[in-house]
Amino acid sequence: MIRCADSTEASQQAKESNLWLPRGAGCSYGDAAILDQGHLLLLDRPQVSETSSESSDSVIVSSALTLRNLLSTLASEGLTLPVVPGVLDATVGGLIAADAHGKNHLNRGSFRDVTDSFQLLLSSGEVVDCDRSHNQELFEGTIGGVGLTGMILAAQLQVIPFAGPRALVEVTSTPDLETSLDQLHRQAQRQEHVAAWIDPTSSGASFGRGIVVAGTPVTGSGNEKTVWNLSRGCPFPPGLGRMLTPRTLRWHNQLRHGFTRGGDHSRPWKLDQLLFPLERWSNWKRLYQPRGFHQHQSLLPPESSPQAIRNLLKMACSGALGPTLVVAKCMRSGGGWLSFPDQGITLTMDIRADQDSENLLRRLNEEVADQGGKVYLAKDSTLTPGLLARMYPDLSRFKDLRQRIDPDRKIASNLSRRLDL
Ligand SMILES: Cc1cc2nc3c(=O)[nH]c(=O)nc-3n(C[C@H](O)[C@H](O)[C@H](O)COP(=O)(O)OP(=O)(O)OC[C@H]3O[C@@H](n4cnc5c(N)ncnc54)[C@H](O)[C@@H]3O)c2cc1C
Repeated sequence: MIRCADSTEASQQAKESNLWLPRGAGCSYGDAAILDQGHLLLLDRPQVSETSSESSDSVIVSSALTLRNLLSTLASEGLTLPVVPGVLDATVGGLIAADAHGKNHLNRGSFRDVTDSFQLLLSSGEVVDCDRSHNQELFEGTIGGVGLTGMILAAQLQVIPFAGPRALVEVTSTPDLETSLDQLHRQAQRQEHVAAWIDPTSSGASFGRGIVVAGTPVTGSGNEKTVWNLSRGCPFPPGLGRMLTPRTLRWHNQLRHGFTRGGDHSRPWKLDQLLFPLERWSNWKRLYQPRGFHQHQSLLPPESSPQAIRNLLKMACSGALGPTLVVAKCMRSGGGWLSFPDQGITLTMDIRADQDSENLLRRLNEEVADQGGKVYLAKDSTLTPGLLARMYPDLSRFKDLRQRIDPDRKIASNLSRRLDL
């Protein structure tokens, strides 16, 4: 890994390296941020999380800034980002390269919708400015392009007023999959941030029962409007992973659902609890020690989503443990040639790694393609070139662009090699 102090050094490294890949904070679940036998180029974190304003509704920031630092700095100025994914350690560069989304995709879209422009370092070492009308192909190819067009150095992002660090949240338990999806749709029309937790361990008529959590920020007063505590959570207790079995998972889900059923409610929450539930624990991945886990995230188009989700859940449950966490969110149509967001429902499943998990992921990928959906590249490690072509209709435009700007494929990743990008 090569740390570059600034864009001049990054440009020099890009010229000198035969094989490189831009790297953010390494939060991607799959192999999009990994390059065997090459250099990972990393822009050093700014010492101070500076933002400079081009206008009152946008800021220019270094791509190395983390979401945690950016949101804290913006909050102190009474501002925030319209789109906030659930991972505070990710960098601005990584979030644009994944075209990341939050729980409000239906209302606000993804990072593509809030990125006005960026500076891109090409494989040649040249730096170009890109926006929707200038170097438009580079703009569309880079957003969601998992780092393969070059390194984003800085970006101009839209900002909105920050209401304050609280939200009014409605929590509703649902008795089966159909009701979970109906409630998800209903709440996504009414509230800003909405997601459904789905319980795949329940069987028979209650298969796919869930809890829909929907919240909208509420306006705070005085000091509260400028303070957002985004500190790291408590350490996850070691050794808990050994207790993760199909039976304990079923008990956990029963308890969780039963607890909510007893008290569907609407009450104020801390906004970070709504947006970043995993950040409550500083190292929750310990739960999956020693082999780790995969996260499979797919997008199913509206016409096929209820049946497709049922099929995917049933398939995932055929694994040794079954998915440990399942979340569904609504999406609207998107853009960006390799961008993931599109109209439909996105289903995310955490799957503990074992000797069969990769085969399971491949079967899930086939099912997603058969249902006209797609798999999120920032979380993928098992797609094939054939499936990718079925899922991403603008793939040939992306490959043409790559051929023109980087014919020798100086920029590569394990993902780009596997998918022949
Ligand atoms: C707990 C958790 C929650 C998550 N929640 C969400 C969510 O709610 N919504 C969502 O959409 N995603 C989510 N993700 C996925 C995450 O947003 C993406 O994986 C994101 O790309 C991570 O950013 P990073 O800085 O860690 O990038 P890395 O993982 O380092 O890199 C990701 C990709 O971006 C490229 N890249 C990184 N920096 C640059 C740059 N400066 N210029 C060009 N390319 C670059 C890399 O080459 C790589 O292909 C989550 C991940 C985790 C771990």
